[in-house]
Amino acid sequence: PERVDIVNFGAGPSALPTSILEEAAKGLLNYRNTGIGLTELSHRSKEFGTLTKHLESLIREQLEVPSNYHIAFTQGGGSGQFSAVVLNLLARHRLLNPNVTDEERVMDYVVTGSWSKKASEEAKRLGGGKVNVVVDGRTYSKTGKAFDNIPPHDKWAFSPKPAFVYYCENETVDGVQFSHEEGSAQAFPFHLTDPSVPIVADYSSSFMSRPIPRLKDHALIYAGAQKNIGPSGLTILIIRDDLLVDTDAAAKLGAAPVPITLVYKTLADSGSLYNTPPMFPMYVSELVLERMKNSGGLQRLEEANRRKATLLYDTLDEAEKKGLVKVKVQPGSKSWMNATFELVGEGAEQKFLEGAEAKGFKQLKGHR
Ligand code: PLP
Repeated sequence: PERVDIVNFGAGPSALPTSILEEAAKGLLNYRNTGIGLTELSHRSKEFGTLTKHLESLIREQLEVPSNYHIAFTQGGGSGQFSAVVLNLLARHRLLNPNVTDEERVMDYVVTGSWSKKASEEAKRLGGGKVNVVVDGRTYSKTGKAFDNIPPHDKWAFSPKPAFVYYCENETVDGVQFSHEEGSAQAFPFHLTDPSVPIVADYSSSFMSRPIPRLKDHALIYAGAQKNIGPSGLTILIIRDDLLVDTDAAAKLGAAPVPITLVYKTLADSGSLYNTPPMFPMYVSELVLERMKNSGGLQRLEEANRRKATLLYDTLDEAEKKGLVKVKVQPGSKSWMNATFELVGEGAEQKFLEGAEAKGFKQLKGHR
C-alpha cells in the first residue's frame, strides 16, 4: 500500500503528514539554502540557533509559557525524566532543607496508570527519599485491578511538605486522562496542594494536543516529542526558574550527584547546547508546530480533538449498548488521545483487527 491508503492509529511514534516529511526530506539534503543538510550542520551554527529559538517560541506562544519558565530540548525520553525529576528535585529539597533526613524526605506520586506507576518505581529505586503514593487509581476501578479512572479528590492523601508532587496527565497505556474542565471531579486538584511544593507533570502523550490549564501552577512539565509532534529522540522540558539549582552544592550536603546531562540548570543555562541536542527531531517538530500555528493554533486543535473524541466515544457507547464492545475507562477520565476498549466475544478482537486492516486502519492494536 501507499501512505495515502493508510490511516495510522499508532499511539507513537507520531504519524506525520506526508507534506511535512517531504519538507523534512528536502531539509536533509539542503537546509534552507545553505547547500548543507540539517543533520550535517553544527548544532552551534547560526542556522540551528535560529531553528532552536523558533521551536521554542512556537511552544512558548501556543502554550502561553511565562518568562520565568525555561524551555529546554534534550535526549533521554520520558523514562530519562523519571530519573531526572527525582535527582534534580531531591537536590533542590536538600539545599532548602539541609537538616531533613532521607527518611523524612518524601516524594508524592499520584498513580493513575502504568506510566505514573513506572515513574514512582524509579523514584523508589533511586532512593534519597520515600515515595508516598497519594492515590492509586486501581483502588477505585470497576475491577479493583485496572487503571480506569481519576480517583475522587477526597481519597487523595498528599504529604505535608513533600519534595515534589508528580502526576501523569495522560496515561498512554490505560487511556486515563485528567479533565481540563475547571471544577471537574476529574481535573487535577491544585486547590488541595501546597503552592510552595513543586508540581511535576508528564505530558508525554498529550503534549500540544490542547492548552495546559494552570500551567503556572506547575514547576515542571515534560514530554517526549514522539507521540504528537515529531520523531523520537527529543524530550521537551518546561522548567520554572526555581528548579535550576546547583546540584553539586546539594551533593556536598549528601544528595546524590546528578549526571551532568540531566541537570536542569545545565540544560537551561546552556540554551540546550551543553551537548548535541536531537537536531533532526527538533527540525521536524518545528515544521509540525509551525503548521499547527498556521492552521489556527492550539485552541483550534483542542476543538478538533474534542470533536474527534466525542464522535469516537459516542460510537463506542452505542456499540457497548449493543453488547459489541466494553469501554474500559470510566466517564470523565476517558483520554482524548488513546481510547481503550475490548471487543466482546471469542475471536471478536482478531476479526475486528482484520477488518480494520483491510480498510487500511493500521496499528489499532495497542497494549492489552
Ligand atoms: N510517559 C508517558 C505518558 C508515555 O506514554 C511514555 C511512552 O510511551 C513514557 C513516559 C516513556 O517515554 P520514552 O519511551 O520516551 O522513555
